[in-house]
Amino acid sequence: MITSRDAFFIGNEWVKPASDRCFTLINASTEEEIGTVPEAVEADIDAAVAAARKAFDESGWAQTSPAERAAVMERFMAAVAARGPQIAEAVSAQNGMPIALSSMLEGQFGAGVIQYYAELAKGLGQPDVRPSQMGKETLVERSALGVVAAIVPWNFPVTLALNKVAPAMAAGCTLVIKPSPGTVLDSYLLAEAALEAGVPAGVLNWVAADRGAGAHLVSHPGVDKVAFTGSTAAGRKIAGVCGEMLRPVTLELGGKSAAILLEDADIGTFLQGVPMACMLNNGQACYNGTRILAPKSRYDEVVGALADFAQSLTVGDALDPATHVGPMASAAHRDKVMSYVEIGKQEARLVAGGNSPANRGFFVEPTIFADVDNSDRIAQEEIFGPVLSVIPYDGEDEAIRIANDSEYGLGGSVWSADSEHAKAVAHRVESGTVGVNGYMPSLGSPFGGVKASGLGREFGPEAIGSYQNLKSIYVMS
Ligand code: NAD
Repeated sequence: MITSRDAFFIGNEWVKPASDRCFTLINASTEEEIGTVPEAVEADIDAAVAAARKAFDESGWAQTSPAERAAVMERFMAAVAARGPQIAEAVSAQNGMPIALSSMLEGQFGAGVIQYYAELAKGLGQPDVRPSQMGKETLVERSALGVVAAIVPWNFPVTLALNKVAPAMAAGCTLVIKPSPGTVLDSYLLAEAALEAGVPAGVLNWVAADRGAGAHLVSHPGVDKVAFTGSTAAGRKIAGVCGEMLRPVTLELGGKSAAILLEDADIGTFLQGVPMACMLNNGQACYNGTRILAPKSRYDEVVGALADFAQSLTVGDALDPATHVGPMASAAHRDKVMSYVEIGKQEARLVAGGNSPANRGFFVEPTIFADVDNSDRIAQEEIFGPVLSVIPYDGEDEAIRIANDSEYGLGGSVWSADSEHAKAVAHRVESGTVGVNGYMPSLGSPFGGVKASGLGREFGPEAIGSYQNLKSIYVMS
């Protein structure tokens, strides 16, 4: 089915693009054309920023009571939830995410994110009154930061957008959201939901663009804050621009997390957790634990179990509910992942997968490498595909040293029959998040990275703070 669009969503209107440039969207499973959408050039970005600026400066969104914003967000949540199945289908067709996963994490979870921040919004608004050493008291006020440029990648296009939209709306900010060129159709469904919900004009604006126009958005004088999710390489560039401008920025970047199996880990529990903790979304998830650290005493057992597991997974069309592993999001990304598989064949021992199987679709077989050294490229560089490296270790201290020997620090997991012991090990892992006997981000707790995995946090009440200014009013008498 061809689904094309010919306008941007700016100021609650469907606005004709400034140029005739467009993105062609491809079904990752079949390589068939899905449709075309307009590509924003600088003039379109300017129009979207102007609409967000006007909504922030003139139409009073930031001054509405938190309860009013929460009511708008609840209507938006309901309209997004009603579109869950369409959203899931659009995402899976475009980026290859298995439909069983997109139904849950893109179709439903995104609405849950809006609901969570709508609830928190209800409690905002009152300044903290704090004791003062020399005067009477200090009032600590929080106000909306302004216009937010939200830049999202293709791997979880809906949830990663709403992770920014919801706390920013709760705080009273307005947004220009820039989807990635390969995953745009879902953003039109969100825009339709915003229109139906009566989100005031200019609060949410969507303009799909490539890097050039994206860079224009990052440095735009009308923007007050940048919220970025994507690769570490792009994050460094964006951080450089924001640093020079002294513009607040949050960065959710890449990862190369470690899954540490302790001596007493139950292999069945681990294998059950692998799809969520290590190979989520065909391996295209930032926090995946793609370095499997196994004790030498159990190394062959772990390698054998993972190889059998990888071979048991159903690789197929992302829209088939029976599919465990769908295609990579694009031909270019499939080629990148396969180039790492070739590097892996030189560096280590291939024990499962290793091919790009189908004649049609951007597929890569679930692939397991054994005898990987942590200094190998496949252990240090983010592959972003269904490729796991099993690394042997001798003693718990060595496991922790290897886990921390990475430029990244986003996710990770520790597996043990003794969860108290696993928690103690998790405590020593240098990372923004770690799972114990599984891994699943939790909406109420901060998510983000250390080292080259990013700056700042999403989720939890903390995320609202990254869309607010703080002001202290010292009341002396
Ligand atoms: P990418 O960095 O190539 O692109 C991400 C987005 O940024 C896209 O919309 C792109 O058009 C835009 N962009 C790129 N360079 C830009 C620039 N200089 N100025 C403005 N916009 C720019 O990343 P990708 O390939 O789309 O996504 C995969 C990456 O995202 C992986 O590295 C993954 O680990 C990371 N990621 C991180 C998280 C997290 O929460 N930490 C979540 C998902 C994905």
